[in-house]
Amino acid sequence: MIHIEKTSLIPNWQQELQSAFTDIDTLLRFLKLDTQELAEHYRAASDFPLLVTRSYAERIKKADWNDPLLLQVLPCLDELETHEGYLSDPVGDAQASKSPGIIHKYHGRILVITTGACAIHCRYCFRREFPYSDNSANRSQIANIQQYLAENPDVTEVILSGGDPLMLSDSKFQYLFESLSNNKQIQRIRIHTRLPIVLPNRITKHLLATLKSSRKKVVVVIHANHSNELNDEVESALLALKNIGVTLLNQTVVLKNINNNTPTLTSLSTRLFECHTLPYYLHVLDKVNGAAHFDTDIQHVHSIYAEMQKQLPGYLVPKLVREEQGKSHKSMLQTNYWGINI
Ligand SMILES: *Cc1c(COP(=O)(O)O)cnc(C)c1O
Ligand code: SF4
Repeated sequence: MIHIEKTSLIPNWQQELQSAFTDIDTLLRFLKLDTQELAEHYRAASDFPLLVTRSYAERIKKADWNDPLLLQVLPCLDELETHEGYLSDPVGDAQASKSPGIIHKYHGRILVITTGACAIHCRYCFRREFPYSDNSANRSQIANIQQYLAENPDVTEVILSGGDPLMLSDSKFQYLFESLSNNKQIQRIRIHTRLPIVLPNRITKHLLATLKSSRKKVVVVIHANHSNELNDEVESALLALKNIGVTLLNQTVVLKNINNNTPTLTSLSTRLFECHTLPYYLHVLDKVNGAAHFDTDIQHVHSIYAEMQKQLPGYLVPKLVREEQGKSHKSMLQTNYWGINI
């Protein structure tokens, strides 16, 4: 365990980040798991290290290797296998990058890479191999974004992504957000973040004041894959966002042995709604190197989805989508009545 000195200058959430688990051995001991087969996990962690916040780790069941939250973050040997059809940039982001840190793939909205940092490393992440070095929210990047917007007047929405945009300090985030807020062309600012889930303390008063100060519509898209991720602290953080008028949406990835069954995904939808959040996208796994062991057969995904449609009110059924290169929007996967792909 890392002990750090608490100073009043560092906000709690940043202190919490400094004490996140980065070492497999320590995490497994905390979870009361036998550490005998560690070597296997260590090898997989060498180029995408383990990173788990304490807040998230506390939601993992003790002494259970199959816990759905643990499986999302624990490096394993399967990641080192290569599989046909799995790439390092499966969604073609490098190709769609118009200017450093700006991805303009779809009409009317640009995605901005604000930082490469995350508070947690999800083993299935499609950005795990993305080259981030030249992308960060500094003054020159902000000038670049403004220039890009001026040259592309049809863009009315900016999506802050990463990594995780809320990994920026309150002051850096405020600077970026206000610069976008002051741009007349922009109608909506969207933030794609996992921090309300994995580090709910990140939703600070300062951040809420920044978001509230804008006259733009603010959308926060969180990322939860299982209802066990949504504890009381997460619910309070989301309520705080809702109370300042933010629209809250969630995206989920279908992950083998974690949520690839109807009961898990329907409970996730109903729990999200209790947390003031609507299910937005249900993503089929992106075929990124090292993630093949999370993939679910597409016919199985279709039958799970057809069953969700039968059991849930329409507004709690997320859109089932796949990210494809060279398309003008994310591809909806259609199913017929029997759950067969059409
Ligand atoms: C998913 C995505 C968006 C947003 O798409 P929506 O369908 O509006 O949620 C924008 N840009 C990129 C590069 C994306 O991958
Ligand atoms: S970008 Fe999102 S999915 Fe990828 S590691 Fe970071 S938090 Fe996880």
